[in-house]
Amino acid sequence: MEISIPTLLRIKPNALHKIGKYLRKENFTRIAIFYGTGLKEIFNVQLTISFESSEISVLHQETVATNEVESIYKSAYKIPDRVQAIIAIGGGKAIDYCKYVAFILQLPIISVPTSISNDGFASPGASLLINGRRKSQKAKIPYGVVIDTEVIRKSPDMFTYSGIGDLLSKYTAIYDWKLAFRVNQVPVNDFAVLISSNAVEILVNYKNKNVKDLEFLRMICGSLVMSGIAMEVSGSSRPASGSEHLISHAYDMVAKKPSLHGIQVGVATYAVSWLQNNKAHNTIKEVMEQTGFVEYVSNNPLNRDDFIEAILQAPTIKDNYYTILSEKKNIDLLIDYVNNDSYLGQFLK
Ligand SMILES: [Zn+2]
Repeated sequence: MEISIPTLLRIKPNALHKIGKYLRKENFTRIAIFYGTGLKEIFNVQLTISFESSEISVLHQETVATNEVESIYKSAYKIPDRVQAIIAIGGGKAIDYCKYVAFILQLPIISVPTSISNDGFASPGASLLINGRRKSQKAKIPYGVVIDTEVIRKSPDMFTYSGIGDLLSKYTAIYDWKLAFRVNQVPVNDFAVLISSNAVEILVNYKNKNVKDLEFLRMICGSLVMSGIAMEVSGSSRPASGSEHLISHAYDMVAKKPSLHGIQVGVATYAVSWLQNNKAHNTIKEVMEQTGFVEYVSNNPLNRDDFIEAILQAPTIKDNYYTILSEKKNIDLLIDYVNNDSYLGQFLK
């Protein structure tokens, strides 16, 4: 099995100013840029200066407004042959879009997240809309990840809370993976487990859990990258995604107003960690409190009925994906918990 990991990795304040230099070092001098909606206006000037000073030519520019697969193919055919790399500037949608463009054209992609709401910026998969339905599609792991922590600090806090929720889910995902091995002999990749659990431990053990602290943001970014790499190493989403992710995917489908991926995943992680009798249950709660996740979600709660419906539908989301929710009695226990636990209650209305 061939494993690729990002070759270019820069996570630091003001990294965006130096992006031209980073690309030149990798011998990428002819590029295509894709921006998330509204981001060109914010970043165009500083990026142009950086590219021009390193003599990098931008041969194609586009703003991403959708993640429909038809639109991705159209973009792919518009990119001139001379382009050597694709640069994705934005949140999850723009990066997923570019990952698939790059996959079609077999070009390297440099992902430049402007917010860190999930681990998608460094993962091998892309979430796309195919015939109106969201589908997780195999794509390429980014060749490069460049994160300007000053940009992340200025992004709305809810995105960072979402990234934290996505990271905390490693505890419940790994539990489900090991459970799937015991019940169904699903192979567990020990190295991927190590990467994934270390990724979340780094977050847990960092003292000043302030989402405006540049060093803390650097830790979160690094951990999200590791989560992406764990998926590449194992060739599956198992090290990063268990029943808590199934609940979130189902919530995306049933809710009238879905929230951010990692916010939904975080709430589901709290609930599922109780069901699993996971020894990280209290740790998860503490980190949610220390970072501001609890305060944010209690002010912006998920819909209780939709959440319960999502739990019911979770086992139908992915074929051959055994988790603790594959047993009907566990679904009943969890729904009972959701209806009666007052701590969890603050996340739902
Ligand atoms: Zn996730």
